[in-house]
Amino acid sequence: MIGFDEHGRFLHYCHCGAWGSRGVGFSFLKGRLGTWYCAAHIAEAKPEEIPMEQAPRPIPIPARFRASCEFCGNELNTQSDGIHQWTAGWVMQRAGGGGHGISLPERSNRWAHRLCVENAIRGGTQQQSMF
Ligand SMILES: [Zn+2]
Ligand SMILES: [Zn+2]
Repeated sequence: MIGFDEHGRFLHYCHCGAWGSRGVGFSFLKGRLGTWYCAAHIAEAKPEEIPMEQAPRPIPIPARFRASCEFCGNELNTQSDGIHQWTAGWVMQRAGGGGHGISLPERSNRWAHRLCVENAIRGGTQQQSMF
């Protein structure tokens, strides 16, 4: 059974009655509900109906979001989670050390992965501990 319940929720079951966790040929944009299978019956899907989750298509990064990581040099998407951007600005000093948030931030076109930044921070800490 494939369709919508009275609350407008999309329900998709395998022909055996189990919940169809994998769908083929569905497209919300085109209004196609597709065919759905449970894990046991997904093998029945026609070869041309490759489940989306088994055919991951790399999503090209839009040019305006494409940048390279300052540390590793690899391409990154500036809209991704955890991407760091170089920002300079004014930070009010706290008595006893530390700072508040940055005021009047100036963002530069410099980017880095979170992991790369974390590695750099860790590297910096190691250097400090040598003194
Ligand atoms: Zn089934
Ligand atoms: Zn990186």
